[in-house]
This record gives sequence, C-alpha cells and structure tokens, in this order.
Amino acid sequence: MTNPFQLLGISDDVVNAVKDLGFETPTPIQEQSIPVLLEGTNDFVGLAQTGTGKTAAFGLPLLELIDFKVNKPQALILCPTRELCLQITNDLKNFSKNVANAHVVAVYGGANIMQQLREIRQGVQIVVATPGRMLDIIGRKAIDFSSVKYVVLDEADEMLNMGFQDDINDILSTTPDDKKTWLFSATMPAEVRRIAKNYMDNPVELTMGTKNTGNVNIEHEYYIVRARDKYAALKRIVDFNPEIFAVVFCKTKLDTQDVAEHLIKDGYNADALHGDLSQQQRDKVMQRFRERNMQLLIATDVAARGIDVSGVTHVINYSLPDEIESYTHRSGRTGRAGKTGISICIINSKEVGKIRQLERIIGKQFTKAELPTGFDVCEKQLFSLVHKVHNVEVNVEQIDQYIPRIMDEFKDLSKEDVIKRFASLEFNRFLDYYSKAPDLNAAVGDDRGERGERSDRAGRGRGSEGYTRLFINLGSVDEFTRGDMLSFICNNGKIAGKSVGKIDLKGVFSFFEVEDAVADTVFEGFKSVEFKGRQVRIEKSGDGGRGEGAGERRGGGERRSGGFGGERRSGGGGGYRGGSGGGDRRSSGGSGRREGGSREGGNSGGGFRDFSGRSREDKGGNTGGSPRREGGSREGGNREGGDRKKKW
Ligand code: AMP
Repeated sequence: MTNPFQLLGISDDVVNAVKDLGFETPTPIQEQSIPVLLEGTNDFVGLAQTGTGKTAAFGLPLLELIDFKVNKPQALILCPTRELCLQITNDLKNFSKNVANAHVVAVYGGANIMQQLREIRQGVQIVVATPGRMLDIIGRKAIDFSSVKYVVLDEADEMLNMGFQDDINDILSTTPDDKKTWLFSATMPAEVRRIAKNYMDNPVELTMGTKNTGNVNIEHEYYIVRARDKYAALKRIVDFNPEIFAVVFCKTKLDTQDVAEHLIKDGYNADALHGDLSQQQRDKVMQRFRERNMQLLIATDVAARGIDVSGVTHVINYSLPDEIESYTHRSGRTGRAGKTGISICIINSKEVGKIRQLERIIGKQFTKAELPTGFDVCEKQLFSLVHKVHNVEVNVEQIDQYIPRIMDEFKDLSKEDVIKRFASLEFNRFLDYYSKAPDLNAAVGDDRGERGERSDRAGRGRGSEGYTRLFINLGSVDEFTRGDMLSFICNNGKIAGKSVGKIDLKGVFSFFEVEDAVADTVFEGFKSVEFKGRQVRIEKSGDGGRGEGAGERRGGGERRSGGFGGERRSGGGGGYRGGSGGGDRRSSGGSGRREGGSREGGNSGGGFRDFSGRSREDKGGNTGGSPRREGGSREGGNREGGDRKKKW
C-alpha cells in the first residue's frame, strides 16, 4: 500500500524517516500545504495553530526542494524562540536523516556563537534561526544568503509580538528578491497581514480549521475565585487531578518564580521557566519537564512559546494573558498531536467579560467549572492511591526477605483491616487537611477578593513610626503566646524587650515590630534559628513591595506582585502533624524520581507531591496554607518579551 506521504509527493527516504517517527498519516495542515509548497513557486500564508504538525508541513517540502549536493544556505527558517528553533532543527534533522549530505544548523542566542559559526562554515543548506542571533551572524559577514530560495517565517505573530519586525526586515534584505516566503501564524492580526503584504507576492493562503479557532482537541474551562484564593484554587485543581502534567502560565517573571517556589515548598513537583533564568537553567527545567520528572511547569508566555512537550494534560492560566492572542499560544501547549487537553482559566469575577471575548475570538465556548470540594479531592486522591498500590511493580527479589517479618507484624489483623490501615495512613491526613477547606468558588459579581488585593497593595503591614514590622513563620498554632513570642524575639534577636513594639500573633505566622535601630541585629540573630526542627524565618513585611502584607490574607491569598499571603505561613514543616514521616521513595522508569513523601521544611522540587504534601497545609482553617520554608530569589516582576500589542 502506498504511504499517504508518498501520495503527497514526498520521496522514499523522507517517508521512511517520518515513518520512524510514528507519522502514519499526514495531519490536515500537512495534507493541504505539502502539495502547494512542493511546487516551490508560490509565496504562502498558512494560518495554523501550534501543535498541528506545521513543522513537517513546511519541512518535508523543503527537503524535496533543496539541492543537498550544494553546500550553501538555501532555506532560512526564522522563529521567535530558542526552544522552537531547537525543536524545528531537531525535527528537520530527523526528517532528513536518510538524505545524503543534508545539513541543518540552529542559530539562536544564549549559546556559543563560535560553535554556530563553525557549523555554518562547514556548509549548511538549512538555517533555523531566532532573529537576534541571525542578525549578529549576518553582521559578522559570516553567512552568505545569496543562494536562499525559501524563507519560512514560523509563528510570525509571535515574532511580531516580541518586537522582531525590524530584525526580520534587516535579515530578509540580505536574501534574494526572487526567494519564496512561507509564513505560518496561529493568528492573523493586522501586523501579520502587513508583512504578508509587504514581503509576499500573491501568496497562496490556507486556513487550517476556522480562522483563529483554537485546537479542536482542547476543552476550555474557567473557575471564578476571589483573588486571594487563587493559589489555593490552583492547588485544588492540581490535587483533584493526580495525574496532571501541566503548564501553568503567569504574567510576569516574578509571579512565575513565586508560584513555582510556593508549589515546591508545598510539596508539589514544580519548577519555573522564565527569561531571568540562565540558558543552562532553562535547559535543565525543560529537560526535567520533557522527561516527566516534573509535573507542573510554571512559565511566562515568552519562555514557554513554541515548546512542544507531548502529553501535556492541562494548561492553566493562573493569570489571563495581557494580549488576547497569547491565549491561543498558551492553550496550544496541550491537545497536541491528536491528544486531548484542557485549558483552564482561574479568574476573578470581574474577568468574566474577558472569557466572553476569548470565546468570540477562538469560536469556542468555555465551560464554567466549579472547584471541587475538599471531600471530592480526598476521594479522588484516595482512589488514585488505591490504584497506584494495585498497580505498583513489586520488586520480589528485594521485598521477599522482609515478608515474613511484615506478615508477623500483621498477624493479628484481617486482610480488610490491613487495607483499611494502609488507606488511612494517607487518607486521615488528607481528610484532616481538607476537613476545614472552604468553598473556593466565588459568585459572579463577588469582588471581595479584588478589594482585598488592592488594600493589600496599598501599604498594609507597615510598621509604626520608628519601628520596622517583621513577619515570622511562627504563631499561635505553635503554642506561642504574646509573652512567649516576646521572649523568643528578645533571646534570638539579641535585643531588649523594650525594643519590641506591637506583636500581632496570628495562627501560623505573626508580625512584630522592632525599633528601626535594632532591625538589622534581629535579622542577624535569626539567621540560623530553628524551632522544633524547622527553620525560623523572618522577613520585612514591607520588603520592596514583596513581603508586604504577607500572610495577612487569612491563608492562601494570592499575591500578584510577590509572595503568597497566608499560604506560606504554616511554617516550613512544622505543620506536618500526624504524618507518616519520610516519603515513600520509589524509582520510576529509572529516573529515580521521588513520589510522594513528606517534605519537612520544604524541598528542592525533587519529587512528586502527594497526600502528605497537602496534609501539611492549612492548619488553622486557612484556605491555602502550606507549611513550607521561604527562600529563593525573587526576581524582577517585569513582563518578558518585546512590546506587546493587542490588549484586551
Ligand atoms: P508541530 O505543530 O510541528 O510542532 O507538531 C506537533 C507534534 O505533532 C509534534 O510532536 C510532531 O512530532 C507531531 N506530528 C507532526 N506531524 C505528525 C503526523 N503526521 N503524525 C503524527 N504526529 C505528527
């Protein structure tokens, strides 16, 4: 039987390579565009979402059109991000693995330019580049584009969003006039129309699916919560989906870092991806995510653009993007390659209008979903555990030696009793945590959270005149009275009682004031203080707008511009009561990742979270409180990317 790619005009060598990749039938975009592009005589505009197979849609025809006997750049592919650049390069290398003398080079910033120059000198036919580094190399006169016949502008809308318009102009001016330009874009704002008009001659236009329609495999949901409950809502969504493998989008680098840090400290397996990380750090994060050693990738729009990780089950919009168009890019991280996915928006009641706008733009309805109750989460997690226990691979060789002793321990219990006890081990703690969990759903029109948030930002938490107000991660649940707290501060801060001002004792944290003159001494004194085996942390409550008002939001409050209020306050590890102690370690597929396990005093993000992570949360009736340790750098809250255009 003839292979369907062959029927489209792709040669055997390339067909065999894509077969090896598991491509059996062309995707709709490939079916439509390959025959057109193979002619090699037209400019082309393809309106296509990410994840639809567009790399092969332009990549396969390119491989047919290029003369690989000639060692000169004949195709230039420009794309917005390094991740996408590497992905396209990798795909093209895979597609061309049986093609003799095919050379593809990736040109992108943040990597050694000398290596890239060396590869170019050795002779390449296809250059895949991000605009900045490409211009740098052109500026060095290190590349000759006079033989370029095809230029592909991939994710053109994103390149424009990122402010690459001028760079693209400059790069294209070094390529021959008679080249063919193929433009792919998920959306078609006026700016993209304009480049299509400026750079192209009567292009063939193909729209894959309805214009601006989101991927059909993606369901869109939204949850309305009060602003202060946003983080708790995120955790509840994650808890309710034990197998979640998600990208969580935040608006700023600061939010991204904060959400990730808090999740990690709450025992979730998460990490941040944003532009303030070094390239090496970003690569590491992405590698962990790709290899599924991480469950939640918290990312900015720019950093996550173009990433193609298969099997992402959910995209969570922790904040809606500033630009409506970005929503399509975000949600396109899930539902890839024929799989289904869910795109979730956690919004406040005032943002419902934005959801309606999104519905109009992507032409799909969003479902208003209700956050599960604590009981729903318990049940879901319990059965996930039961399922795991049932399916766990037993290492007979290792465990057999202990079986007689284990049987002896259980000899007075029936099978049912043993099962009950195993299940209760986790379930009790989980129930304990969720027994006080409030309903996080907010009604439309309920803007209490928003008012709360504003007042938080309006300078709450400043000390009295002449005093510095400090936060401490100990409170009444640690059985502190005001008197205890006073002596604790004096003894560890090495100051006299008269230097201490107001003490505001809360449940899992407190605030206290000290005279400005002794604030530094107190900081010094508390540097390495522990309380019942966990690190005591103090923090300026008005610290650069980051710690201000910290924790005053009755637990679990969202802190857009830095830090999550109460959720951090349960204290690193101190709240983990009645737990079974150390985490259950198991190796999974050789990765050795940690599944579950208690993380007293926070963790470095090494393992999956489970019951124990959550059971430590929320003592004292907080909505999102989790014992965890503070720390880690807080990075700039500036938005990433170039000048963004289309606002709500
Ligand atoms: P892209 O839109 O090019 O980023 O592709 C999205 C994902 O779909 C990638 O993981 C590709 O490897 C995969 N893919 C592309 N074309 C096909 C195909 N014809 N059959 C199966 N998977 C494909």
